[in-house]
Amino acid sequence: MSEDLIHLVQCPLCPNRHEYSLSVNRSVSLGMLTSQPLPTLTRRFVRLFTCPSTGNRFQATITLEETALSRIEGVEVASLLQSSDG
Ligand SMILES: [Zn+2]
Repeated sequence: MSEDLIHLVQCPLCPNRHEYSLSVNRSVSLGMLTSQPLPTLTRRFVRLFTCPSTGNRFQATITLEETALSRIEGVEVASLLQSSDG
């Protein structure tokens, strides 16, 4: 199962922020249905992004949440959506 997310990055190479779409692969376990809220884990992934202004690549950290029933298996940077000033 994969889902698409939009990730806004403050670019270290230029003064702009860029929006990228991410493709997040999750392994979803149906598990047992429970009324208890599942604890949420915060995970960080470092990925390479391309700055559209300079054409150079930079690393940025993506922070995502997962639960025991929805584990993150991988994160890919799918595409650049747009770039905005400031
Ligand atoms: Zn940039």
